Amino acid sequence: MDLSAYPLELPESDRPMVRFMNVTKSYGSLVVLDSLNLDIQRGEMVSVIGPSGSGKTTVLRMLMTLETINDGVIYVDGKPLTHMVRNGRLVPADEAHLRRMRASIGMCFQHFNLFPHMTALQNCMEGPVQVLGLPKAEARARAEELLAMVGMIDKKDQHPSRLSGGQQQRVAIARALAMRPRIMLFDEVTSALDPEVIGEVTQVIRKLVAEHDLTMLMVTHQMGFARDISDRICFFYKGRIEEQAAPEQFFTNPQRERTQQFLRAVKDAD
Ligand code: ADP
Ligand code: MG
Repeated sequence: MDLSAYPLELPESDRPMVRFMNVTKSYGSLVVLDSLNLDIQRGEMVSVIGPSGSGKTTVLRMLMTLETINDGVIYVDGKPLTHMVRNGRLVPADEAHLRRMRASIGMCFQHFNLFPHMTALQNCMEGPVQVLGLPKAEARARAEELLAMVGMIDKKDQHPSRLSGGQQQRVAIARALAMRPRIMLFDEVTSALDPEVIGEVTQVIRKLVAEHDLTMLMVTHQMGFARDISDRICFFYKGRIEEQAAPEQFFTNPQRERTQQFLRAVKDAD
């Protein structure tokens, strides 16, 4: 691909926290993201919705640098994520660059994947100690503060197997936050939970939106929740953004036929 058209760095005057610039991702002949352009501003909460297979998870996986892209460039805080500058040109990022850039991004998945042999507290201390090199006492203080924030301080010495799904997910959120990311990604974090515990997890996310200046990108099936807390809704269809708007506008007056169909279908499923 020709990278000469992409800036080495975004100018101060136009520097969103995240920018996807013409990003294409394919698996064989299947185009999963089709020349995607997406900006997320500092402190913005963007919800991604759309049918299964439309590329929602792929967008998050690209940001976590779990996959390489086929075309385009992703920038984080103005700096290339998928690429790096060498001899005044953009070249594909090497592992060291990815590791450095990843530090600013945290992610929670549908399946929380806590370390099963560690307590809630140890789960939240592991990354800060092993990856960031924080002294144990400092990592512990940080972990305890976050476990208190998600309402799990009473259970800090429990192993994941002794916790409910909602409790495990709250620990997983605390664990991600313990790395002090500037961007948080959530992928259907309530989809695997029993209905009665969904609220305790959405409550934590509401709190993050209200009290922190994190930039967040959330994939969700919960339309009411997305409408409540998002600054913007992005509707994905076949690897492209079919429509995006502020929640009120998006849900009350969707412009595109595909969006209207999707919203009717999820409403009927309720
Ligand atoms: P969503 O999260 O919107 O349901 P995904 O981003 O997970 O969708 O997937 C988009 C498309 O990419 C789907 O058709 C999926 O089957 C395909 N896909 C995802 N990961 C892979 C992979 N590792 N290999 C091949 N196809 C994949
Ligand atoms: Mg998905």
